[in-house]
Amino acid sequence: MRITRIETFLVPPRWLFCRVETDEGVTGWGEPVVEGRAEVVRAAVQVLAEYLVGQDPLRVQDHWQVLSKGGFYRGGPVLSSAVAGLDQALWDIAGKAYGAPVHALLGGPVRDTVRVYAWIGGDEPGELREQAAEQAAAGFTAVKMNAAGRTPALTSPAETAAVVERIAAVREVLGPHRDVAVDFHGRFTPASARRVLAELAPLHPLFAEEPLLPDQGHLLPALVAASPVPIATGERLYGRGEFLPALTAGIAVAQPDLSHAGGISEVHRIASLAETFGAQLAPHCPLGPIALAASLQIGFATPNFLIQEQSRGIHYNKDADLLSYVVDTEPFRFVDGLARRSTLPGLGVIVDEEAVRAADRRGHAWRNPVWRHPDGSFAEW
Ligand SMILES: [Mg+2]
Repeated sequence: MRITRIETFLVPPRWLFCRVETDEGVTGWGEPVVEGRAEVVRAAVQVLAEYLVGQDPLRVQDHWQVLSKGGFYRGGPVLSSAVAGLDQALWDIAGKAYGAPVHALLGGPVRDTVRVYAWIGGDEPGELREQAAEQAAAGFTAVKMNAAGRTPALTSPAETAAVVERIAAVREVLGPHRDVAVDFHGRFTPASARRVLAELAPLHPLFAEEPLLPDQGHLLPALVAASPVPIATGERLYGRGEFLPALTAGIAVAQPDLSHAGGISEVHRIASLAETFGAQLAPHCPLGPIALAASLQIGFATPNFLIQEQSRGIHYNKDADLLSYVVDTEPFRFVDGLARRSTLPGLGVIVDEEAVRAADRRGHAWRNPVWRHPDGSFAEW
């Protein structure tokens, strides 16, 4: 079997898909994207495609080596995301060629359901209460929310109290048998993060995500040691080498993104590395159906898997949502907050190619907002 063609599709709301075609009629899909930089990743995929076209698609690990290391310069979000999407597509082809789901190729299932969480994003405690109740009624046993919006360097008593009040409102709705995870999104300074984490402890969040920016990794050991709340991070780390210091620091939850951290091949390895630290895996995935399908395959095959993010109804999903480009929505039907294991070959997602081609003709130019503090200076988003 040989790879004959690689195409990319820029589809709303903010995604990039790739399609890898072979001379035997088997095709694979992937989702190589950096949110807000989709066109840049598209160019990287086109460059990597020069090497892949003409190759045997089933040499997945060898291609990962060449794509990741063969350009001499390596790593970073753009290259790692381009490789990630192509890697997903190659695993999809391998599964279809061998007539097996990817989790079977990874050694077989270690579970039959994967717990997923839903996003709630309201800014007011009242809206949050309502949204948390809606998700609980829909069967979800866990939700995730942002800790705060634009955050000053050192939070005032009122600002600290507002963060606690919002999360307390959600905890009150969910009760003690469901979970709320809190995403700091790198918006807090280390000092404010420490202050807020201590206040959140009585609310027992599932985890606190990105309490520090990825470039403040050297501060992570002290923060983890001081935090009574389990720490999660990893959506902006791109490979094993970058997860090692975070795991050594003692994070509880590793959150590689299947579309950023080298795809199924590398996230599978990151999961094993995390296991040696007693850390759990919770793949980041505010993305589309192919990235989610790849994440679920990892979830079914990973012993130390905790929970899966998914984007259905997320605030970014304007003009299209998780189910807009799939023929069969069953793999993404969550009952009691669980995704059930599918035995469909490959990634287990049947892409609606016509819808994807039509959407690509519309395209998108999604960019993340640029925030500023009241004095006009740059603020983390
Ligand atoms: Mg996050």
